[in-house]
Amino acid sequence: MIALNSPLTPDLKKLQKYLEKINDNGWYTNFGPLHDELTEKLEDYLGVKNLLLVNNGTSALQVAAKTLGSESILSTPFSFVATVSAFEWQDNKVSFSDIDRRSYNLCPKSVEEAFYKGCNVDTVVATHVYGNPCDVDAFENIKSQRNVKVIYDAAHAFGIKVRGQSVLNYGDASTLSFHATKVFHTVEGGAIVFKEKENFEKAKELINFGIKPGRGIVETGINAKLNEYQAAVGLVNLEEIDNVIENRAHLFHTYCAGLKDFVEILKWHPEANANGAYMPIRLESQAQLKRVSEALTECNIQHRQYFSPSLDTVFHQNVNYGCSNSKFISDRMLCLPLHAYVTKQDISTIIETAKKGL
Ligand SMILES: *Cc1c(COP(=O)(O)O)cnc(C)c1O
Repeated sequence: MIALNSPLTPDLKKLQKYLEKINDNGWYTNFGPLHDELTEKLEDYLGVKNLLLVNNGTSALQVAAKTLGSESILSTPFSFVATVSAFEWQDNKVSFSDIDRRSYNLCPKSVEEAFYKGCNVDTVVATHVYGNPCDVDAFENIKSQRNVKVIYDAAHAFGIKVRGQSVLNYGDASTLSFHATKVFHTVEGGAIVFKEKENFEKAKELINFGIKPGRGIVETGINAKLNEYQAAVGLVNLEEIDNVIENRAHLFHTYCAGLKDFVEILKWHPEANANGAYMPIRLESQAQLKRVSEALTECNIQHRQYFSPSLDTVFHQNVNYGCSNSKFISDRMLCLPLHAYVTKQDISTIIETAKKGL
């Protein structure tokens, strides 16, 4: 069987050393020494400031919105369900506008149109789908012209840079997921990168029950802290991450070279690197998708319709400014196996098998 995804396995010898440290410190959670070490190393590795570790990528979205005072959100219908459900859960009203047909990211023109049609939200949320950066320049314009906040769901975009600058430095906040299935992981975990230091400080109180050190309870908070065991896994995995990303990006390009004449490959941001987070292919029709899927299943190759269905159809009672591209794409999109342990031989097999279904 060729697995769709396979989590990075942390080196146990290295992990044991960190776990011993935790016992020596007698400090298991609440912004401990390993938490702080991981924060520093991630800021350094990613090229960002104001990075706050949290317990998962979903609460990263929730805490980002709470911190920025977001109440109403215009979001993308083509993403993992958490990009919408995280906000709905805390009664932030989410409406949708459409994606770009070739990058699959929230389309700035469609956002402009929504505003023109009277959309009145305080925050735009856009996902860097499959790690491919959104049109961040266009969203910067919308941000200043419409006086809205921008949150990027960067759960797929670990290590992605635009013009040599971390993609996490755009918008008011970017959120990461460190779930075991992501490029970099802490088993469960995540982070928020804030543009403003004061938002970072506010969020750090919010994720610890609203407690401000030395001042007591200053807000209604939640518990969304990352503990020392998770930080230990992160520190071990971070040592490997350069190799992991290089390898995954290489595998991604191998796939693209073998498939580009047969299926639609997403249009990558021209000034950004790739991290090989996913291998999406867009088929011509649902019938073709079904045939490819059957061919892969027959050869024990895992694959998934990711993301499907289009989220405007899941949250069908929400306001929708037209999501026909998202519906079209989500009905035809398939993700193929891509992870740190896929081999080039696997990829040849997968490409040959997929082609049989075309
Ligand atoms: C994985 C993911 C999330 C959720 O992250 P968790 O850490 O699993 O809570 C949110 N958004 C996107 C786009 C994701 O892929």
